[in-house]
Amino acid sequence: SSLQARVLYWFRTDLRLHDSPALHAALGLNPEVFYPIWTWDPQYVFAHRVGVNRLSFLLEGMQDLSLSLTACNPKTKLHVVRGPPQTVVPALCKAWNITHLVYEKDTAGYAAVRDAEVKASVTKAGVQVVDVLGHSLYDPQAIVDQNKGNPTMSISSWITASNKLPAPSRPLLPPPSLPPPGNTTLIPFSRKDHPVANGVDVNEDDRETVVTCYDTLAGRDGDFSIPTLEELGLPPATTSIRGGETEALKRLEAYCADKAQVARFAKPKTSPAEFDPPATTQLSPYLKFGCLGSREFLWRVRDTISQWIMDQNGNKNDDTTKHPENLEGQLLFREMYFAAECAVGLPFGQIRGNAICRFIDWRLQNQYDASGHRIHPRPLGDAEDEERFSAWQDGRTGFPWIDAIMRQLRQEGWIHHLARHSVACFLTRGQCYISWERGAEVFDKWLIDWDPCANAGNWMWLSCSAFFSMYYRVYGVKSFPEKFDKTGKLVRKFCPELAKFPDKFIYTPHLAPVDVQEKAGCIIGRDYPFPMLDKKVEKERCIQRVKAAYALGLYGNDAAVLNGSAVAK
Ligand code: FAD
Repeated sequence: SSLQARVLYWFRTDLRLHDSPALHAALGLNPEVFYPIWTWDPQYVFAHRVGVNRLSFLLEGMQDLSLSLTACNPKTKLHVVRGPPQTVVPALCKAWNITHLVYEKDTAGYAAVRDAEVKASVTKAGVQVVDVLGHSLYDPQAIVDQNKGNPTMSISSWITASNKLPAPSRPLLPPPSLPPPGNTTLIPFSRKDHPVANGVDVNEDDRETVVTCYDTLAGRDGDFSIPTLEELGLPPATTSIRGGETEALKRLEAYCADKAQVARFAKPKTSPAEFDPPATTQLSPYLKFGCLGSREFLWRVRDTISQWIMDQNGNKNDDTTKHPENLEGQLLFREMYFAAECAVGLPFGQIRGNAICRFIDWRLQNQYDASGHRIHPRPLGDAEDEERFSAWQDGRTGFPWIDAIMRQLRQEGWIHHLARHSVACFLTRGQCYISWERGAEVFDKWLIDWDPCANAGNWMWLSCSAFFSMYYRVYGVKSFPEKFDKTGKLVRKFCPELAKFPDKFIYTPHLAPVDVQEKAGCIIGRDYPFPMLDKKVEKERCIQRVKAAYALGLYGNDAAVLNGSAVAK
C-alpha cells in the first residue's frame, strides 16, 4: 500500500549485519523497499588524509557487506553513490520516493556535523529520519549528561557515569532476509552540475581525479559499483590486514579460542614487539569501521571468561585480570574517549580552542587564522624541527625501536598500543618537543583504525596535554623494548638493514664496534643513520619545558593562547 515505508539505509562506520540496532530499527518499519547505500564522499576520501591501507580496508569491508546483503536477498547489494552525502542523500530520497532515512548515529567529529546537515535537509523534504546508536556500548551524550556535562577525563569518572545508565545488551542477530530495493533509476547529473565539481573542498591536485571518478552518481557503468583502488588512481595497499565483517568475526573467534589468553589479558604486559601474531586482538580496524559490533566483542569476551572460570571438567579458575587492564577494560577506554570528545566537540582534535588540552609551546604547532581555521602551510619551527619530524615520520631517526615502529605503521596500518606510546612520547614530550597535532596527522594518514576520539585523545594522553600528567616518565628507546624482547624481532623485520646485528646492539647499533658493523653488513652513518639527537640532553630539556608550561597553567581555550601572547618568545 502507499502507506508502506520506503527505506533508504545509509551505511557508514557500521559495515556489518550482526549487532546492528539501526538495521533492526529499519526492518522494524516493515518496509516494502529497502535501499542499502554508501555515499562515496570525496570530502572523506580526498580532502581528508586517508592513506591507501585504510581505503583498501574500507573497500574490502564494503565488498564483504555487499555479498552479505545479496545473500539476504539476491536482488540487493550495497549501492555506492558517488558524491557528498549532503547533496546526494536528499537527491536519492526524492528520486526514489523515500519515506524513511535510517542510519547508525555517529556522534564524533566531522561526521556529527555532516549528519546534522543531512538530517535537516531531508526532514524539510518530509522524510522521517531514524538515527540509532550502535557504534559504542553507551550513548556518549548520556555519559556526558551523567558526568554533569563534563568530559570524562579518567576511566573511574567514566565508570561512575556509566553505572547510572542501562548496561549494554547482548548483540542482535543479523537479519535472515531483506526486502528488495525498488527502482534505482536516477536522472544523470551533467558534469557541470555534479556536486563534486561544485563547492566541495578537495585539494586542487585531486580535483581532476575526483571529477572524473564521479562522472555520474552511480559510477562509470551506472551500476552503483564499489570503487577500486585502481579507479581512484591509487597504488595497491601494503597491509596484510584484510577488511570485512566475515574476517572480523573469524578473528574474534580465533582470538577467543584461547580462553586463557582472554581471561588473563593484561594490557601493560602484552608485548609491542610481537607482530606475527600480535599480542592483542588487532580488532581495532574492524571496530572502527563497524565490521565488528562492540556488543558482539564485549559479550564474546564475557562468555569466554565465564567458560574459563568454570571449565568443562568442572575445575574453577580464578586468575582472571581486572579493570581496566583486562580486555573488557580496553573497550572502556574507547568509550571514555568517545564521551570526552562528545563534551569537548570539534576542537578535541586540535590544541586551539580545546578546553581540556594544556597549552604547551611545542615546536611545529599548527597555526590558525582569526576565525579558527588552520593556516596552510602551517607550522612554526626551524629547519631542525622539520628535519626531526620528517625523520620520525620516515623511520630514519637512528633509534631502531622508533624507526621499526614507524615503518610498521606505514606498511601495516596498525601498531601495538605500547608501540604507539613509544613513538608518540618520543615525538612530543620525550625527545623532539614537536606538537602532538603533527603526530596525530601522521597517524590519521596511516592508521587503518584511525578514529577522531581515540587518536586525538591518546595523543593528548601521551604528550601529557590531558588525561595523564607524569611528564617526567619517559619511555626509553632501548630499556623499554628490551623489557619485552631482547632479540629485537620487530627491528629485524622492519629495519632489515639491521637484521644481522647481534642482540647486544640491536637497539643501539651505533655503539657496535666497526668490525661488528662490517660483519653485520651495515655501517652506521652510511647504511643506517646515527641517532639524530642526544637522547639524554633532549629528554632533560623536554621535561624542563613541559614543567614550565604546567606552571603557566594555560589551556587551548585560554584567551592568552588565542591572541598569541603565550607563544611569544
Ligand atoms: P586491544 O588491546 O585488543 O583492545 C581491544 C579494543 O579496545 C581495540 O580494538 C580498541 O577498539 C579498544 N582500545 C584499546 N585501547 C584503547 C585506547 N587506549 N583508546 C581507545 N580505544 C582503545 N585506537 C583506535 O582505535 N584508533 C586510533 O586512532 C588510535 N590512536 C591512538 C594514538 C595513540 C598515540 C595511542 C597511544 C593509541 C591510539 N589508539 C587508537 C588506542 C590503541 O592503541 C588501539 O586501539 C589498540 O592498540 C588497537 O589494537 P588492538 O585492537 O589489538 O587492541
